Amino acid sequence: DKHNTTDDYTFGGGCGMLMKVEPIYRALKSINAMKDELEEGEEVILLTPQGELFNQNIARELATKKRLVMLCGRYEGVDERVRQNYVTRQISIGDYVMTGGEIPAMAVIDSVARLVGGVLGNDDSHKDESHSDGLLEYGQYTRPAEFMGLKVPEVLLSGHHAKIEEYRKGDALERTKRIRPDMIDKKE
Ligand code: SAM
Repeated sequence: DKHNTTDDYTFGGGCGMLMKVEPIYRALKSINAMKDELEEGEEVILLTPQGELFNQNIARELATKKRLVMLCGRYEGVDERVRQNYVTRQISIGDYVMTGGEIPAMAVIDSVARLVGGVLGNDDSHKDESHSDGLLEYGQYTRPAEFMGLKVPEVLLSGHHAKIEEYRKGDALERTKRIRPDMIDKKE
């Protein structure tokens, strides 16, 4: 409106303000991101604690898209008509509530961008990482081989590739079982 208002009280009462539908509609319209204007490979994503839980598989899928529009709420969130009519997907970064959608959007952007070819120094870097194959990654060490009596596992210094591979697989499996047994259940 003429005061550039973007939020208002909720119908039916309740504390807190809600982001209005019209400014969001106009913002999306101005970048040709209305649902019926979207091309193949374009998504309008609402960041919300009510969305599907973000994970590495979703990051992989989003990394193949042509354009992602991220819609960030504030206050009590956005008018329900936005959720129902103007977004193609709703994503939550975890079962907790943040003040706004900007940090969740940055988390999504960061994890998606690093899967896009050419972003990381080495495009294979993400292949071994935690969650890439349903396990946490094995522990890693760098020089020195011994620090104040704390030693690197002998096998990693052996140069024996098959044994190192076996050790790493075992370590990844053991720590996933210990820290995230739910991931083992899912993998099985
Ligand atoms: N009233 C909303 C509810 O209970 O579902 C929560 C609103 S929250 C305080 C304000 C904004 O932060 C949301 O509109 C959303 O954009 C963002 N946000 C908060 N937690 C989030 C999460 N876990 N994942 C993604 N976005 C989140």
